[in-house]
Amino acid sequence: MVLQDKLGRRVNYLRLSVTDRCNLRCMYCVTKDFKYIPHPDILRYEEMLRLIDLAAGMNINKLRLTGGEPFARKGFMGFIDNIMARHGEMDLRITTNATMIEPLVPDLKRLGVKRLNISLDTLDRQTFKEVTGRDHLKDVLATIEACLSHGIRVKINAVAMKGINDRELGDFINFARNNPLDLRFIEFMPMGDETLSDSRFWSADDILRQASKFANLIQVKRTSENRGPARMYAIEGGKGRLGLISPVSSHFCATCNRLRITSDGHLRTCLFSDHTYNLRGIMRNPKLGDDMLRKVIAAATRDKPLGYHLLESRKGCEGVCETQMSAIGG
Ligand code: SAM
Repeated sequence: MVLQDKLGRRVNYLRLSVTDRCNLRCMYCVTKDFKYIPHPDILRYEEMLRLIDLAAGMNINKLRLTGGEPFARKGFMGFIDNIMARHGEMDLRITTNATMIEPLVPDLKRLGVKRLNISLDTLDRQTFKEVTGRDHLKDVLATIEACLSHGIRVKINAVAMKGINDRELGDFINFARNNPLDLRFIEFMPMGDETLSDSRFWSADDILRQASKFANLIQVKRTSENRGPARMYAIEGGKGRLGLISPVSSHFCATCNRLRITSDGHLRTCLFSDHTYNLRGIMRNPKLGDDMLRKVIAAATRDKPLGYHLLESRKGCEGVCETQMSAIGG
């Protein structure tokens, strides 16, 4: 079975959030009135494995594990081990803040994890504390170094924020110049919360203009390896690359191939739409089986919206969606 929507978009990519808990309190992610999902509503690992098995049977071949902070959930390494044993052929990546995993890097390598996407919004210790509420910059940098020395590829994701990390653009470019990794700026998506207002928005085009003062950037052609939402640039004379992801200023809805499942088992077909499908309810109903799950996933995919229409209808300081990112997984 191939998943496809009414517009002909093929879906082969699943972001699965394993928890909504996180050890950081990033200013762009956590909204003021957020509440944790009650534990009994969070999917058990075996329920997640059931969904991954189903997804694999529907030609999903890219799996991203996210959170909250996925490594904050007990038993997460065992879960990775189980996925690798059942679906070694899947392109598996984990999105992490990398604050607590430096000692786990050799084990991740042994389990067959080839890539990590690491969130890092600043290279300055004080700014790190202000952005995340915690003092963990040293740990993140140590994890990156450990990954690179163990041959785990690293993509860094930095949320671009005017007045917060724009002054570090030159440092970021030097970091990517000196290390073999991709450093990608993601446009900040306003969450309709006063903690971080729309005025912090720093567009991908502005970043590119300013970045060209620090380096000669050569756009990387799109290939089967480089088909994601990021525009990628090689840094002349450097080891790494710079990338720009522009969900707000220049959407990539036409090529969106993603589904998301939240840690409480709700299927979300567009980041910007709060319409979800309750897969947990189906899974926990003994009268319903995998056929019903497949039907709902296929029908939901058919109706996958074009998120930019939803963004256009945003008014004033409304957020891009009503669910906080830590509960969706980014
Ligand atoms: N804890 C993990 C981490 O830090 O990567 C995974 C969860 S985090 C919600 C996933 C991604 O969402 C991160 O790369 C984060 O930077 C991004 N994100 C969260 N809120 C965002 C926002 N308002 N705008 C843009 N990106 C956001």
